[in-house]
Amino acid sequence: YANGAAIIAGGRAPLAALASLQDVERVFGRDRRGQRWRSRTLDLDIVLWSGGAWYGPRLAIPHPLFRQRDFVLHPAAQIAPDWRDPVSGLTLRQLAARAVRRR
Ligand code: ATP
Ligand code: MG
Ligand code: MG
Repeated sequence: YANGAAIIAGGRAPLAALASLQDVERVFGRDRRGQRWRSRTLDLDIVLWSGGAWYGPRLAIPHPLFRQRDFVLHPAAQIAPDWRDPVSGLTLRQLAARAVRRR
């Protein structure tokens, strides 16, 4: 995979943002009928949101696994090092450094 992070400004509410990201995945040819984690053309996840934590049946923000994922932390810390995870209280820079130490 090629991994990356982006900051999207637009003021959409969480579920509307997720729907938009899934529209983009579809444009890139992703078919959601298969099982999770199999290889796909594009996976767009919401890692953090400026509004803090948000939990619903189809969406969890912060993304539940992002603190364990180097491939998320590294690109995210490059563009927003001082963004604070509302759950752990740590910045992306701190979370990324911790992931490197673990390795
Ligand atoms: P992973 O969660 O391990 O990254 P994935 O991204 O491969 O898995 P998908 O098949 O893309 O999983 O998405 C499965 C469902 O996860 C989506 O339909 C969506 O409702 C839900 N979901 C929950 N939280 C999030 C989030 N923060 N960002 C994107 N999708 C989420
Ligand atoms: Mg994912
Ligand atoms: Mg996904």
